[in-house]
Amino acid sequence: MHKKLFIPGPTEVSHDVLIAQAREPMIGHRMKAFSDLYHRIVTTLEEIFATKSHAMVFTSSATGVMEGTLRNVVNKNYLSTVNGAFSERWFKIGLVNGKEGEKIEVDWGKAIKPEMVADALKKKHYEAVLVTYNETSTGVMNPLKDIAEVVHDLSPDTLVLVDAVSALGGAPVDIDGWGVDVILASVQKCFALPPGLTVAFVSDKALEKAKNVENRGYYFDFLLMMKYWETRNFQTPATPAISLMWALDHQLQKMKAETLEKRYERHAEMAQMARNWARERFALFAEPGYESLTVTTVVNTRNVDIVKLNEELGRRGFAISNGYGKLKNQTFRIGHMGDLTTGDLKSLLANIDEIIGA
Ligand SMILES: *Cc1c(COP(=O)(O)O)cnc(C)c1O
Repeated sequence: MHKKLFIPGPTEVSHDVLIAQAREPMIGHRMKAFSDLYHRIVTTLEEIFATKSHAMVFTSSATGVMEGTLRNVVNKNYLSTVNGAFSERWFKIGLVNGKEGEKIEVDWGKAIKPEMVADALKKKHYEAVLVTYNETSTGVMNPLKDIAEVVHDLSPDTLVLVDAVSALGGAPVDIDGWGVDVILASVQKCFALPPGLTVAFVSDKALEKAKNVENRGYYFDFLLMMKYWETRNFQTPATPAISLMWALDHQLQKMKAETLEKRYERHAEMAQMARNWARERFALFAEPGYESLTVTTVVNTRNVDIVKLNEELGRRGFAISNGYGKLKNQTFRIGHMGDLTTGDLKSLLANIDEIIGA
């Protein structure tokens, strides 16, 4: 039996989206049919997210583009804001690429505050500040808008780079209004697509910076992506995952029809439902006021055997996630993003209640 995915990625993929991958016979990426497809995807992304930044789609999971972003726009130093496993990953990616990374770090479950970033920027200049909008390992959302504002106030030339993997399409973001220079998300989270693609929005400011950065690499080179877009008839430098792009194209039309506002509302309603449920039976892991809109991390105050719980849920056609890394068994995570509805979540929670006798 299929287990409906309430894990924080990959998320449940609707049947019509799965089928959309096979909508057309294979086409060549140097054919007009591909140019038309990619052009529609990019322009729809820019339209839906209402931004002047340049949308790009990479055939890679997000981690590749996290690496590519640092290679593209950081010559030397960057400041990471770390409050969980994914923000720590991005910090390390810069280091292994020979950049000088420094980090502000808070305990897992806590959020990064704008004042912390302000303090660091007053002491030293950084080329970029890295923010993980939604820390999927802990279920904490960082106050991206306020952090970006502090960066722009104190250090106008510093770029704001955002991992929005588990947020983009589910939690509100105003790319231009907040001044986000690079924001990226793989599509297997809030976009509810099969894994394999990553969407990024890159500002003119970031592209200008990239012109002065050496060793940007090849596969993720923003300037090469732009060159193929501008001078090679809306192509990509290398062969993309064309079938996945058909699915993305289909899903973007659905997202446009739903509207992002309604999508954000739906995610907020699911988050509220998950939190209320968790507060009544367990406790929330996230610092109050910073709970994630797309994944709820629940403290296992009842000492439930999470592995057994998930096995029994599996027999009933659901899957949730254990706590991440060191939080295993102490917490568990319920993902509520993508195409899931409050009705889906309600039936998951009712099943958990039955199993644990709550
Ligand atoms: C899932 C996730 C990643 C990793 O993305 P991949 O697509 O698996 O490379 C990075 N950051 C965050 C916040 C995530 O949720």
